[in-house]
Amino acid sequence: MKLIDLYAQYKSIQPEIDNAIKNVIEKSEFILGDDLAELEKNIASYCQTEYAVGLNSGTDALIYALRALEIGPGDEVITTPFTFIATAECITLAGAKPVFVDINPQTYNIDVDKIEEKITKKTKAIIPVHLYGQPADMDPILNIANKHKLHIIEDAAQAIGAEYKNKRACSIGDIACISFYPAKNMGAFGDAGMLTTDDKAIAEKIKKMLNHGSEKRYYHEFIGDSSRLDNLQAAILNVKLKYLDKWNKRRKEIADKYSEQLNHPSITTPYELPNTKCVYQQYTIRVKNRDTLKEKLAENGIPTAIHYPLPLHLQPAFQNLNLGFKKGDFPESEKAADEVLSLPIYPELKDDEISFVSSNIIKRVSNL
Ligand SMILES: *Cc1c(COP(=O)(O)O)cnc(C)c1O
Repeated sequence: MKLIDLYAQYKSIQPEIDNAIKNVIEKSEFILGDDLAELEKNIASYCQTEYAVGLNSGTDALIYALRALEIGPGDEVITTPFTFIATAECITLAGAKPVFVDINPQTYNIDVDKIEEKITKKTKAIIPVHLYGQPADMDPILNIANKHKLHIIEDAAQAIGAEYKNKRACSIGDIACISFYPAKNMGAFGDAGMLTTDDKAIAEKIKKMLNHGSEKRYYHEFIGDSSRLDNLQAAILNVKLKYLDKWNKRRKEIADKYSEQLNHPSITTPYELPNTKCVYQQYTIRVKNRDTLKEKLAENGIPTAIHYPLPLHLQPAFQNLNLGFKKGDFPESEKAADEVLSLPIYPELKDDEISFVSSNIIKRVSNL
């Protein structure tokens, strides 16, 4: 059994993917071509935003979002320490200071009641993460942002297709960042990412920033960078986008089966915020003796993963910045890091595999 099976997904749509790749090679138009333009149009439409701009990765999307909003040295940006490092790394890379707010232990997303106490004169933006494909509680975040005139950048790397009160993740903040890392819900065959926004000026600026500060070839308005999403990836993603809703639906079905089968007092199954649609980038449970359970499952051929074992404020990468973070600062994040366990989930996972995983877990937790 695998934690995620990228090959199974390829096999399910092989002729279409092979054809898309062949077409790009036949046109031999690899950078900034029609496939990318089509993908940007398709993603904007899918995410219910005016614009979408392709980039090298989700990480780059986050960095460019901050830079386009002119957030840098002297500024503070609020996010959670219980996420993939890229969420906070981009803040440091932009030259600003990451300010962490603990998570809500039920949703693993930013605790909206703890945001305001962290706002200072220097605060410029909030980056809510839709962790595991579950939307953050956006209404209170929007209210706080309006009140304090802050930008919102959604880290939707794990949440393409998710919804909050009938609005697509990516359509709620000023800018949203998507990752097409291969293991994400819609994965490229390499690195790729995208950013969505309704702001025309931002979209146009980022398009130039990621292409050496230029719109017209060999004429450069400012010092830019190179972070384009290539046409081969775009062509593959255009095929995959057609299947995304079906795949997300299957993820939700798998999650519901797990939650039903894992009904046990020692296991906390994922909580879904009312009026949201979760896309289960991960299906993550919580148990007390997590490490023992993980080992026992591995002995039975069941791979699991920990998202994430060490909160960002305790990572050497942030400790070395001397921002004054210490153990105990964000107790819910620290506790979650000790207890969470992600189970195999991908659209091609079979019902009997779900039952095999569940029954093993039930058997093990009863003996822990
Ligand atoms: C994957 C991920 C990213 C980064 O995306 P890449 O495309 O791998 O650069 C950022 N934030 C979160 C929450 C992620 O899961």
